[in-house]
This record gives sequence, structure tokens and C-alpha cells, in this order.
Amino acid sequence: MTTTSEPSTNSASPANSASSARVLRTAYQQAVAQYWNNEKDPVNLRLGDVDGLYHHHYGIGDWDPAVLEGPEETRDKQIIAELHRLESAQADVLLDHLGPIAPAHRLLDAGCGRGGTSVMANARFGCEVDGVSISESQVDFAGTQARKRGVDDKVRYHFRNMLDTGLPTGAFQGSWNNESTMYVDLHELFAEHARQLTRGGRYVTITGCSNDVTGLRSKAVSRIDEHYTCNIHPRSAYFKALAANGLVPINVVDLTAATIPYWELRAKSTLATGIEEPFLTAYREGSFHYLLIAADRI
Ligand code: SAH
Repeated sequence: MTTTSEPSTNSASPANSASSARVLRTAYQQAVAQYWNNEKDPVNLRLGDVDGLYHHHYGIGDWDPAVLEGPEETRDKQIIAELHRLESAQADVLLDHLGPIAPAHRLLDAGCGRGGTSVMANARFGCEVDGVSISESQVDFAGTQARKRGVDDKVRYHFRNMLDTGLPTGAFQGSWNNESTMYVDLHELFAEHARQLTRGGRYVTITGCSNDVTGLRSKAVSRIDEHYTCNIHPRSAYFKALAANGLVPINVVDLTAATIPYWELRAKSTLATGIEEPFLTAYREGSFHYLLIAADRI
């Protein structure tokens, strides 16, 4: 194991208001942190309970129609396992785009949620992963999961702001945002990624973005923003902010068609939260895309 100089912040306590003020600098960031601190949605927790990988992102790929068959008592359990499989498939696609990662490399999961993607990255590459979230409860939860799995020597979660993580400069071979770019200014975010990545390092995001071709934010996209207290960016904003911060795209994958089945299945489950319809409308009307962007740090 490589030793690191920065202290682990897994033990952040909600009572520690001085550290809270350092991380949560604006009323907006406080509201986002509060949302995630209070979030106990079964659609996230029951899916994570399947195998201990907790995700707060959506899925991709086709589902098996057999999950809708069989007795009613077991149907929900089958649907949950299938939705979870699609969410882990999404994280696998993100990791596929990081390029060759060796055990000696270091990775950064910006806006890490309950930490599922970080654990998968460590399992796949054997390297150290730092996850950063502005939700103290998520950081605590993720740290407990890493300890349970016995990977806490390599997978560490920090109560930090991804716009200013305090993590070392040029130390990371790869970094990503899995559905967390819509909470921040992209210029600030990509400047911080560029600082942390080594030259030739790879940045990957999977995100929902609005479609510049159809104009300003549609009604359905506004409803998604309202639901999650986020600000979905237009597609063009990503490429402008990447280019301005020395991050050069190598891959752009439109995952919209691949994510629609996930939303259709989720809408059929008892775990539906009500946000399924705006997502399906936005994707089908073309005002919203589910995009993967991979870029190299030059
Ligand atoms: N990437 C995770 C979670 C996505 S949910 C997953 O795929 O499961 C969005 C996450 O972004 C939440 O964990 C939230 O706390 C985090 N977040 C939002 N703004 C942030 C900021 N400024 N700094 C760090 N994390 C932030």
C-alpha cells in the first residue's frame, strides 16, 4: 500500500460545524448537502443492499423481461436486483473509459455519493481511490462499507468540496464525476480536476445534459432540476469548460438510448419516486441526453 500524506476524513461528524463551514461555502452547497444527508430513498438503499455496492446514479442496458413475471411476492425483489445490475453496468462503462490503470496509480471519485463506483474501481484496478462528497452522512456510510469489505486501506472517503478538495496536485492518473457535475460550475470543477490529474491522466464523466439544439431548458428538464436541487448544464458547456482547462476529449458516447430501458423498468417498480416520467419525457422529446465524456489532461 502506498502511504499518503493527507489525513483520512472518514470520521467527519455532523456536529463539527467548523469543518462544515470550510466545505459548504454557499447556501446552495448547504442545501445540496442537506438533501443528500437526509436522503434515505429505498430506490438507492434497497438496490445497494443487493451486494453492498451503493449507487446514486442511473442504469444502462436492456433488462430481462422475465423479472416482470413470476409471483407478486418476489417480483419487486427481482426488479430491484435487475435495476441494480443496470446501475453497476453504468459504473463499469465509466471505468472502461479510464484507460490503462495500474495498482500503483491513484484515482479520484468526485461527488462520490455512497461510494459504489470507488469500490468497483478498487476491485478492478487494485489501486487507491479517494472519494469526495459534501454530504457527511454519505462519507460516513461509504467509509463503513469500505471497512466492512476490508478495502479501507485503499478506498478512502472525504468530507470535502470537489471544487477545492485539498488533495495533492498532479497525483491522480484518473478522475471522474458519476452524475455529480450538475451541482457545480463546470469551469471551477474542471480546473480542480486538471490540477489533480497528472499530465496524460484521464477524466471521465457520465452526466445528463440539456440539448443546445432544442434551445433552453425544457419543462421536463426543469422538473428534474427542481427534484434534485441541481442545475443541469447544456451539452455545449461541457466542451467549452473542458477545453478552457486543458482537458481534451478523446471519447464522447451518447448513452441516451441505453438508459431509457432503465427508466421504463423503474417506472414499473414500487420504488418509483415520481421523477421517472420527466426523465422519460425529456429523453424521448430530445431535450436531454445521457452522455459519457472522456478527456485527457494535457
Ligand atoms: N457519484 C455517486 C453519487 C452521485 S449523486 C454515484 O454515482 O453513486 C451526486 C453527489 O454529488 C452526491 O454525493 C453529492 O453529495 C455530491 N456533490 C454535490 N456537490 C458537491 C460538491 N460541491 N463537492 C463534493 N460533492 C458534491
